[in-house]
Amino acid sequence: MAFVSMEVYDVIIVGGGPAGLKCAEVLGHAGKHVLLLEKNNCFGQKLCAGGLTMKDMEVLPLPGEFIEHRITKASIHSKLQKAETIISDPFLFTINRKELGIYQAGLLKDLSVDVKMNSHVTEIRQNKVILKDGREYEFKFLVGAEGYSSVVRKHLKLEVKKRLIGFQYTIPMPEVDPVLEIFLDPGNFYTWYAWIFPHRNSIAVGCCCDPKRVNHRKIIRNFQNWLIRKNIDVGNAKLESCPISYDFKGLQFGNIFLTGEAAGLASGFTGEGIYQALVSGQEVAKMILDTQYTSHALDQMHKYNRVLHRVMLLFRIFGPFRGLLFEFFLFLMNRKWFRNRINARFL
Ligand SMILES: Cc1cc2nc3c(=O)[nH]c(=O)nc-3n(C[C@H](O)[C@H](O)[C@H](O)COP(=O)(O)OP(=O)(O)OC[C@H]3O[C@@H](n4cnc5c(N)ncnc54)[C@H](O)[C@@H]3O)c2cc1C
Repeated sequence: MAFVSMEVYDVIIVGGGPAGLKCAEVLGHAGKHVLLLEKNNCFGQKLCAGGLTMKDMEVLPLPGEFIEHRITKASIHSKLQKAETIISDPFLFTINRKELGIYQAGLLKDLSVDVKMNSHVTEIRQNKVILKDGREYEFKFLVGAEGYSSVVRKHLKLEVKKRLIGFQYTIPMPEVDPVLEIFLDPGNFYTWYAWIFPHRNSIAVGCCCDPKRVNHRKIIRNFQNWLIRKNIDVGNAKLESCPISYDFKGLQFGNIFLTGEAAGLASGFTGEGIYQALVSGQEVAKMILDTQYTSHALDQMHKYNRVLHRVMLLFRIFGPFRGLLFEFFLFLMNRKWFRNRINARFL
């Protein structure tokens, strides 16, 4: 009988999004024998508005050529008012997710990381990952970094109960005004909001809602009606949608770790998750390298998520009166002292 020996990796990372690639980078620098498995044939095939904040930039200093717009101006709209905020230093950077993937993957060159594309993990059995095409690899540590539909999370029997659904059109546009626009419209988007993010030759127009609170079809209908009212012509652009998990249950389960959205670390209010993915990917790698490691960066990240969560709860508690709250918020945003406090806290 032929005996085929299986290579044992120190760490296997499932998924090559911001979390998985960051985790691989830190482990690779420490000389760990790492395998990163990505189901697609290229990185960054993820529906996203492509907005990074200063917090993302601190974890992933991104070279200038990868940045599409440095945003210094935001407009927030409610039904009756508009508040504009202009800051001298950019507070948001728009990027193309595929290019972000190319940049992060480039950082793995010359490190002890094997990257295998077209490698769809379908099952975890004992200390092995099993791929759709039958390949098997053995690990000492396993990191689930494969986003919302995480196989590793399913293996841990951690159901995702708290989620949003994001809907988005990417509309081609030759000239784009580099302004971030946010629309607080409780009649259509309830506690959540719609956005316009400027990109190099397009705009990302989207919205998100909790499907438990608003029926999926109703959100789409409201979004389409809102686009018509705003005179936004989507042309031939296709409506795309993707769930966002904010059901955090922990990072470490023995020799198995979860990061990014697999861990449910996105914000249930803004839907942002790249910062959380980068931080958790980086910090999980440090936890694998040093079992005594305590992470300040993770505390900061959880704190940020908690603040956003409280804002969401506040908007939710106001129920049918949240429109009044939004108007009051914009009234305050049009006052310099309040705007400065918000900018200092969040931007
Ligand atoms: C409409 C929308 C707009 C958004 N806009 C923003 C924004 O502007 N800013 C922001 O910060 N966040 C935004 N987000 C959230 C953000 O995109 C995610 O939170 C973030 O990408 C999570 O990163 P991740 O690395 O955890 O997972 P992902 O980015 O989802 O990466 C997971 C990777 O794993 C791979 N994979 C999945 N399953 C398997 C498998 N079984 N085997 C192998 N590989 C697998 C996938 O192909 C993918 O490459 C948005 C989300 C949506 C839906």
